Amino acid sequence: MSPAFITLSPLDQMKETMNETPAHVRELLRAVVTQSGPTCVNLFYSALFQHKRAAIFLEKETVEVKMRPQLLAWIQSLFFTDADHVEDLSELQCRVGAVHAQLEIPTDIVVYGIYIIKQALIEGIKAATSDKDDVIAAIIYLNNMMDFAFKFMIKAYDVSFRKKVESDEAFRLVSLGHNISYEKETQISTFSGWSTQAFYCLCKGHPEDLPTIAESEFGLWLTHKGMSLFKGTHEANEIQRKVRELDAKITAIRQSGVIPSDFPTELHKAITKLTFLIGRVFRHLEEVENGRDPLTKVFNRRFLDVVIQNEITFALTHEKPFSLVILDIDHFKKINDRFGHLVGDEVLCFVAEIIAANVRANDFIFRYGGEEFLIVLTEAPLADGLACAERIRHALAEQALTLSSNDQVHVTLSGGVTTFEGETNARLLIHQADEALYKAKNNGRNRIVTTHHAS
Ligand code: GH3
Ligand code: MG
Ligand code: MG
Repeated sequence: MSPAFITLSPLDQMKETMNETPAHVRELLRAVVTQSGPTCVNLFYSALFQHKRAAIFLEKETVEVKMRPQLLAWIQSLFFTDADHVEDLSELQCRVGAVHAQLEIPTDIVVYGIYIIKQALIEGIKAATSDKDDVIAAIIYLNNMMDFAFKFMIKAYDVSFRKKVESDEAFRLVSLGHNISYEKETQISTFSGWSTQAFYCLCKGHPEDLPTIAESEFGLWLTHKGMSLFKGTHEANEIQRKVRELDAKITAIRQSGVIPSDFPTELHKAITKLTFLIGRVFRHLEEVENGRDPLTKVFNRRFLDVVIQNEITFALTHEKPFSLVILDIDHFKKINDRFGHLVGDEVLCFVAEIIAANVRANDFIFRYGGEEFLIVLTEAPLADGLACAERIRHALAEQALTLSSNDQVHVTLSGGVTTFEGETNARLLIHQADEALYKAKNNGRNRIVTTHHAS
């Protein structure tokens, strides 16, 4: 390698490598790829299906229909593209890398896959020629091209990693939580400004000056920002309905110039109700913004990955264990069907309270799905995870819940437990706990199962 070569950009280095490689060597590799490409792809997938952590990412049908042809096309593109089209080649590698990064396929698996392909092609090269110099030159060229491909691919991981850092940063900012609180204070004050003005007009006996909510500062904010901010909440629809109702009355009063005698009382009631609803919808928003589930008050999934990833880093750097528990209420649908959705909601809150009472302040509880909770037990080995899950299961199974209606409901739950053993992908850890939960359900429910052997 010349000193000048090092000063070139990676793209130009690839171009130069292609140009400097004798044409007959490049031709040799093309022949090898044509000849042994399909075998190489077969070997690649057999190796990865046997690789425990890689197999999770491979779904048999997708491999057959999509991934095999794509891999073959990728190998061909590396050796059939000419030096004038290196840009296209590097872009292709970035795209391939982005797909891998998005799926969070660990980089060691990508490196292993490339290793398998190299070995298969080296066999092909050896079989294709008996000229030792050509064999060496072809292997060097093969290695160089694979290294370039990997280099461009890995760039996508860097981008993906930076996104995670940004999400960490969002977590920090949100935990300060000043934006929503600021908006809440401002809008409660603009609403109060409108109501003062409305009462002033009534007192003065100037019905023609009565302001509608829609034209007030609060109303304009509600129309253009608030409704999209509060979207989907039951309170938002009620606020909108109440505002329309009140504005219709105000418009009629303005036109007729007559204030009905019961209007001041009605206005007072509507303002009290709206103030209550606005406060509530903002509280709801604050909880979601802070990563909380408004119903059960435990964390929602928003920062689940960040929390687990932080625990993985902590476990690796401090050599401490941690465990994951997923709990799923048994036959919850039947509770909803029998007692109604509101009772179902109450049961969810009870279960969240029981979980909270059985974990430590340093653990994290998430509402993972509708009736599923995920607990991250920090600095806890598998045995502690199992013990904690069992404590919660017992607490529920042994006594009926007394609802606000005085009805008694008996609820059980099933759980899956797993522990950190060096797996650095948060989603795979969750997947392990999920698998254990699945077994608990299949084995008859109201039980806790682990994928590991408790020590
Ligand atoms: P299994 O023992 O297999 O877990 O049965 P299941 O009935 O608990 O599970 P399934 O997944 O069939 O049903 C879950 C139900 O949880 C369906 C859904 O209506 C209900 N659900 C999800 N979120 C909520 C919620 O926020 N409130 C209420 N009341 N019900 C909910
Ligand atoms: Mg479920
Ligand atoms: Mg369930």
